[in-house]
Amino acid sequence: MIPKSHPRYESLMKREKIIEFFERGILAKAGLIAHGRGEAFDYIIGERTTEYALKSIKAAASLLILSKKPVISVNGNTIALAFNHVIELSKLLNCPIEVNLFYKTEERLRAIKKFFDENKEELEGIKINFGGSYIIPNLESNRRFVSEDFYYSDTVLVPLEDGDRAEALIKMGKKVITIDLNPLSRTSRVSTITIVDEITRAMPLLVRYVKTLSRKEAEDILKSYDNKKNLEDILKYMSERLAKLKL
Ligand code: ATP
Ligand code: MG
Repeated sequence: MIPKSHPRYESLMKREKIIEFFERGILAKAGLIAHGRGEAFDYIIGERTTEYALKSIKAAASLLILSKKPVISVNGNTIALAFNHVIELSKLLNCPIEVNLFYKTEERLRAIKKFFDENKEELEGIKINFGGSYIIPNLESNRRFVSEDFYYSDTVLVPLEDGDRAEALIKMGKKVITIDLNPLSRTSRVSTITIVDEITRAMPLLVRYVKTLSRKEAEDILKSYDNKKNLEDILKYMSERLAKLKL
């Protein structure tokens, strides 16, 4: 047990979750590495939601509210860390969840289905797709196989996405919302809206704004949002924060 007073309590609890889901077979080995990369960037950000992240969260909520056919795409890390929030968002938007795995094996799919089965009450009424026979063009990996819902969606929320796939989705004409602590990743740079924040901090805020923004407010927020400018502001914030830090 990690004591609550531990200075790195939150971070260690997330690690425990990641390890637990790895051991259950839901998360791939590479997911452990991806988490570590995220942690490093979170250290530099200061492990809090910045004003820039908040701006992109509001823009993301706005885009989701105004979209006709949104979809939430999840991988092992997202299931491990933020599944409750994904469920809440999916219910609010009345949108399907797509399970999309980089390392897709029968074993992993089985482990994920078992986990969903254990949580079937919360999942009631939600459509969950495990990919399908529709193909994302310009993509080599297994992740190109998607469901009909995903294929015809207009906006996809894809937390912790891979650069290749984010790029291919944009080429398909989709609006892509991502959550990624690394503002320099290809995913961050190509996405329509990039939330540079930790997924467990960003998701409850995203849910809150989807609940509270009106369509008119959403339209106004989107009009003034500039993703490239936001990413540049975050990079500036990170470098200034580092320059000011004293040991
Ligand atoms: P890209 O493929 O976009 O160029 P990458 O190859 O550097 O990025 P991936 O391993 O494909 O990185 O994606 C994992 C991304 O998810 C990393 O950029 C990492 O910072 C981010 N990440 C990991 N854990 C979290 C988390 N808990 N919250 C937010 N972001 C996270
Ligand atoms: Mg990648």
